[in-house]
Amino acid sequence: MEFKNRVKIVYFDLDNTLWDFHKNEYLTLQEIYDDHIKYIDKYYRPCEFINAFDEYNERLWEDYRQGKIKKEVLRAIRFKNTLEAMGIYKDDISGQLDEEFVTRTSMKPYLVDNAKEILDYLYGKYKMGIITNGFKDGQHRKLDSSNIRKYFDYVFVSDEVGAIKPSKEIFEYALTSSGFLNDEAVFIGDDYKVDIIGANNAGINGIWFNRLDETINDKIDCIEIKNLLDIKNIL
Ligand SMILES: [Mg+2]
Repeated sequence: MEFKNRVKIVYFDLDNTLWDFHKNEYLTLQEIYDDHIKYIDKYYRPCEFINAFDEYNERLWEDYRQGKIKKEVLRAIRFKNTLEAMGIYKDDISGQLDEEFVTRTSMKPYLVDNAKEILDYLYGKYKMGIITNGFKDGQHRKLDSSNIRKYFDYVFVSDEVGAIKPSKEIFEYALTSSGFLNDEAVFIGDDYKVDIIGANNAGINGIWFNRLDETINDKIDCIEIKNLLDIKNIL
């Protein structure tokens, strides 16, 4: 049977697949710089702060995904490490910055190009779900602030499920909860290692949204798209 006819549910990753994490995060860090950092040390430029934060945040997220550290540790030290590296860590404002970061970022509405259009196209044709790594409150708020919750029958956040992509458990939990078999599902995500390998671990076909035009050696057999609208040719 043709791929398209077998699919009954379309799962999406959220960050950087539908909701523009890069843009929303960048705008938030600019605000945090304007509200706090420039008063601590006016000689630092915003990009230095943002680059330092991104570096620590990504490293800590990798440790978190691998189960090496807990969420509380990640959230307690990502701003602390950033400020220390910049040599401007004084009193403990890192906890406050982290709260502001999570809340403000998730309130931003910007979506990836053509996200709304492709959701409109798929809506009604398939059941739809989100499988996202992240913290419960923030991930749910993103769906509301960008006004896309209405498209989804199911939302699975790693923090709530207790399993994290690329582990197959979160995908299997999603299938069981939605009542579908792995060959009736397709998963669309931007992160090859986390999303596509993860879905494959659970026997789900992945569509890799390679929006940054990355090259992967020894790539598994998966459909690759550069623009969300390409999904119209597949589903
Ligand atoms: Mg993503």
